Amino acid sequence: MHRRAFLTTAATLAAAGCFTRPNPLAESGRIMTVRGPIDPAVMGRTLTHEHLFSIFGLDPAEPFRYDRPVVRDAVLPHLQAVHALGVHTIVDATAAYFGRDAVLLKQLSEASGLHLITNTGYYGAANDRYVPGHAFEDSIDGLAARWMREWTSGIAGTGIRPGFIKLGVDRGPLSAIDRKLVQAGARVHRRTGLTLAVHTGDSVEAARQQLDLLRSEGVDASAWIWVHAHSVATTDPLLEAADAGAWISLDGYRPDRTPLFLERLGAFRAAGLLGRVLLSHDGNTYPRNGSAEPRPFTALFTDLLPALLEHGFAPAEIDRLTIENPARAFTVQVRTTD
Ligand SMILES: [Zn+2]
Repeated sequence: MHRRAFLTTAATLAAAGCFTRPNPLAESGRIMTVRGPIDPAVMGRTLTHEHLFSIFGLDPAEPFRYDRPVVRDAVLPHLQAVHALGVHTIVDATAAYFGRDAVLLKQLSEASGLHLITNTGYYGAANDRYVPGHAFEDSIDGLAARWMREWTSGIAGTGIRPGFIKLGVDRGPLSAIDRKLVQAGARVHRRTGLTLAVHTGDSVEAARQQLDLLRSEGVDASAWIWVHAHSVATTDPLLEAADAGAWISLDGYRPDRTPLFLERLGAFRAAGLLGRVLLSHDGNTYPRNGSAEPRPFTALFTDLLPALLEHGFAPAEIDRLTIENPARAFTVQVRTTD
C-alpha cells in the first residue's frame, strides 16, 4: 500500500477507535511534555538542550535514585530564574542510565509552571559507558521496540512519555554500537515522528555517517539534530548539514563564547539558514559527579541575545531562533525521504 494511503487508513481507523493498542502516530503535530501533549504554538521561548540534573561522571544507573526533595529545592530556583526571563519550555537531554528521572521532571514542571520535555534512547558517547549491556545484544528492531514501549506506554510505569529520542555517538568512524543506536532511533522516528537529538560534538565524520544511515533508513535530515555543533572547528560543515535539512544545535553557550556564537550565527544568517539553528547552554543545575559546579541557564538571555541585537539581528530573528525553530524541531511528525 502506498504510504500516504496507509497513513490515511491508519488515521481513519484511529478516529473510529479501531486500535486496541495505542496508535504511535496519534500525537502527530503536537509536542510531548512530561505533563502530556501541547500545541506547538504554546511552547514559547525554549531552551533546546539542558540538563536539570544528571549523573555524568558517576557509574550508569537506571533509575538513579535521587533524593527528590533535595534536587527539587536545588533546581527550582534556576527554573524560576529562566521563567522570569521569558522562557516557557526546557528540553531536558539527560538520557536513561545517565540520571533521567521523569517523575522528578514532572514535579519540577508542576512547581515551576514550565513545560519540560524528556527523552527515550541511549547515550553512546563517552566510549559507550552509559550504554546498557542489553543494547550490545539486541537487534536493531529489538532496541527500537524498547524505546517504542516508552513512547506508547510511558517511562517505567509512570505514564510519562518522552518527547524526543536522545542518542550519543563517539567520534567517527562510527562504532558498531553507535551505528545500531542511530539505526534503531531512525526506525523509532519512522513509527512515531519523534525527533532525534544526537550528541555528536565536533566529529564531522560522525555527523556525515549519521546522515547517511538516516537516509538508508528513509529518514529525512530534518528529523535529526546535530547536538554540540558549536564545537566544530569551522562553520562550513555545519552550513552543509543545515543546507541538507539538519538542525544545528549551538548549545554550549557561555558568556566567554559570545564572539564564537556571533560569528557562527552571522554565517548562518548570511547563508539564509538561520531557520535551521537551535540555541542552548547544555547547562546542568544539579551535577552529581562531586566536583562540578552547577551550570545554570540564563546567559543566553542576559548576554547573547542582547549582543545579537547590538550586532544587527532583528527581534524577529531572535524569536525565530528561540521560539519558532524549537517548535518546528520538536513537533512530533514523521519526516521520511519517500
Ligand atoms: Zn548535554
